[in-house]
Amino acid sequence: MSQLARLEVGVLQGCGPVRQRRLAEMGVTSVLDLLTTYPLRYRDQRRLAQVAELVPGEAAWVRAVVRRARLVPSRGRQRVELVVADSSGALTVTFFNQRFRLRQLPEGTEALFYGPLQVFRGRRQLTNPQVDLEGRRSGRIAPQYPASERAGVASWEIAQLVEEALDRAGRFADPVPEAWRSRLGLVDRTQAFSGIHRPERLRDAALARRRLAFDELLRLQVDVLRRRLVLEAGTRGVVHRAAAAPGGSALVRELLARLPFALTGAQERAIDQVLADMARPRPMHRLLQGDVGSGKTLVAAAALACCAEGGYQGVLLAPTEVLAEQHHRSLLRLLGELEVEDPGALGGRRPLAVGLLTGRLPAGQRRQLLERLEAGQLDVVVGTHAVLTPAVELPRLGLVVVDEQHRFGVAQRAELRARQEAAGRAVPDLLVMTATPIPRTAAMTVLGDLEVTELDELPPGRQPVETRWLRTPSEQAEAWERVRQEVAKGHRAYVVCPLVADGGAKEAKAAAAERERLASAELAGIPLGLLHGQLPADEKEAALAAFAEGRTPVLVATTVVEVGVDVPEATVMVVEDAGQFGIAQLHQLRGRVGRSARPSWCYLLASELTGETRTRLEALEATTDGFALAEIDLELRGEGTVLGTRQRGRSDLKLASLRRKHRGLVAQARAVAEDLVGEDPDLTAQPLLRDEVDCLLGGTGAYLGTG
Ligand code: ADP
Ligand code: MG
Repeated sequence: MSQLARLEVGVLQGCGPVRQRRLAEMGVTSVLDLLTTYPLRYRDQRRLAQVAELVPGEAAWVRAVVRRARLVPSRGRQRVELVVADSSGALTVTFFNQRFRLRQLPEGTEALFYGPLQVFRGRRQLTNPQVDLEGRRSGRIAPQYPASERAGVASWEIAQLVEEALDRAGRFADPVPEAWRSRLGLVDRTQAFSGIHRPERLRDAALARRRLAFDELLRLQVDVLRRRLVLEAGTRGVVHRAAAAPGGSALVRELLARLPFALTGAQERAIDQVLADMARPRPMHRLLQGDVGSGKTLVAAAALACCAEGGYQGVLLAPTEVLAEQHHRSLLRLLGELEVEDPGALGGRRPLAVGLLTGRLPAGQRRQLLERLEAGQLDVVVGTHAVLTPAVELPRLGLVVVDEQHRFGVAQRAELRARQEAAGRAVPDLLVMTATPIPRTAAMTVLGDLEVTELDELPPGRQPVETRWLRTPSEQAEAWERVRQEVAKGHRAYVVCPLVADGGAKEAKAAAAERERLASAELAGIPLGLLHGQLPADEKEAALAAFAEGRTPVLVATTVVEVGVDVPEATVMVVEDAGQFGIAQLHQLRGRVGRSARPSWCYLLASELTGETRTRLEALEATTDGFALAEIDLELRGEGTVLGTRQRGRSDLKLASLRRKHRGLVAQARAVAEDLVGEDPDLTAQPLLRDEVDCLLGGTGAYLGTG
C-alpha cells in the first residue's frame, strides 16, 4: 500500500496531464488516493428487465438498441427523442436539454437505460433516464463514485482508472496475519479492494467495507500505541509501596472507614484499578470518566492518600481557582484527619498536610507554601495549572490528578516527564478526571494512550433531575414559579444567562442586566446574586459564598458555574436561551442541581426549534445519563468533536466511524494492534504495517517529538 502511495496516477494508461490535473483538484494524486476513493453507492445492473415487462412507475434497467434518434424543438427546450427496442418491444426515451445524447446514442447503439416507466398519452416512455453505454460494467454491480463536477471528473472516469489500477496492482500484501483475519472474519486486502470497487455480489462490497474500515482503525490504534510505548520507554515511575502492600494501603482503608456512606460499586472498582496502577513501576496514565456527582473526588482522595502514605507528594489540578478552592475544602475534610509518617515529628507521625496554591495567594503565604513543599512537609497541594511550573519545587512528586480536563494530553505529559527526568526524578502517576465523558469507542481511539475507568453509577438516593423544555412565556412561568417555591423552602436556584457573542465584558454586562430585569419582574423580592467571569476573584468567591449560605438564594450567572460548583441545597436550574448551548454544556449545567436527596428541576427555556438543536434539547429531557448523551452528541456532531484538529490530521478515516456502529470494530482493531505492536514501537516484526502507518498517518518523526 505504501508503494501505491508513492506511485502517481499518471502511470495509468487513461491518465494524461489534463485528467491528472483534474484528479489532483479532487485530492487524488497517487494510485493509493485513487484506490481509496470509495464508491458512495452501487447500481445493481445485474438483473435487466425486458422492455415489455416494465411496469408504470417502477424503475428498472433495460438493455436496448437505439432504433431512431431525433432532435425535437419544443418551446425553447431541446428535446432528444429516441425510440429504443429489445426483442420484447419498444419504448420512447426522451431527454430534455441534453443535446449531446444524439452524439452519444446514434441509431444502432446498444445501451442500458434506467428510470421509472411513464405512460404519456398512451405512449410508454422513460424521461431523462440514466444511461450506461454498453461497457465493462453492464450487467454488473456498478460503483458510483463521488464525482466532482467542479474538477470535471465523472464517476465513470474514476471507475475506469480504478479498474486499470486494480488490474495492474494484482495482489496486495496484507499486514494483518491470516490467523487474525480468519478469527475476525475479515477478507484479505486483495479481496477488499476488488470487493469495494467491483463487487460481484452486494455482500462482497459490505465485507470489503468492513475490512477497509478495520484497516483505518488499526492504523489509528497502532499509531496511538506506538506513541504510548515511546513515551513509556525507559521511563522510571514511582512504585507506591502502600498500594503494593498486602491488604492495600492502610491510609486508604482509614479514609474509607471514616466515610458516612458506603462506596458505590463503581467507586470500589475504580479505586482498585487506580491503586493497582500505582503499585506498578510503569507510570499510571488513567482517565476517570464519571458523570456529574458520581463521586470522582473520593477516588482522587484515595489515590492521594496512598501516595502520601509512601512519603510522596500529590498534586490536584483544577481548571479554575474557584474549583481549586472547592477541592481544597473537600480534601481537607477527607484527608485532614489522617496521619502520615514523619521521622522528624514527635511520635514519628504528623497530620497529612493539604495546601492550596492559587494565583491570588499573598506573596508571603506563597513563599511559605513553596518552602513547605520543597521541604516535603506538604503531602498534597491543590491548585490551577500554575502548580506545575518550574517555580514550584516538588522534590517527591508521586501523583498528579487533573480534574475536568481530559485534554491534558500527550504534550503536557511529555513535558512533565522531561522535567522530572531532567531533575533525575521518577515520573509521577497521572490520573485525569472528567465529567464530560466521551464515548468509549472514541476514548479508546483518541485517548488510546491512556487507560479508561468509568464511574457509571451514582450514589444511592439521588433523584434524577426533572428536565423540561419550556417554549412559550406562559410555559416558562412554571420555571419562575418553581424558583419562588423552592426559595421559600430554603433551597437555591441558578439562572444561567444567554451566551453573548465574543463573551467577556459584553456577557458580563448582559448578565448584570438580566439580574436587574429579574429583580423587578419574575423574581421580584428575592435577593439575587451575580456571578460572571469578569468579576475579580474575591468577588466571585463572595458571590458563591453568599449563594451557598443562602443570603442570595438565586444566583444569576454565566456559564462560569458550568464546571464543578457544588452547592447541595441548589434544586432549580433555569437555562435561558438553552438552544445556544451544546449537549455537554447543558448536561454540566444541569449537574449543578440534584446534588442531594431533594427533588430537583432543570428548565430549558427556548422557543420552538427544529433540527439538531431540537434533538439536543429533547435528548436532555429524555435522559440524565451523561454517557448516553455523549453518544448522542457524537452522532449529531460527528467525529470532529472528539478528534481534535490535530488528531483528525493524523487519521485517515474514510469508511470507519467512531460512532456506535463501529464500536465492535474499534475494539477488534485495538486488540490486533496490541498484538502486532507488542512492546516494540519500531514495529521491527511488522515492516508492512509500519510503512503503512508512517505513510498514511504522517511519518515516524512525530513519534520522537512530543506530539
Ligand atoms: P463528581 O464526580 O461530580 O466530582 P463529587 O466527588 O463532587 O462528584 O461527589 C458528589 C457528592 O457525592 C459529594 O458531596 C460526595 O461527598 C458525595 N458522594 C461521593 N461518593 C458517595 C457515595 N458513595 N455515597 C454517597 N455520597 C457520595
Ligand atoms: Mg468533581
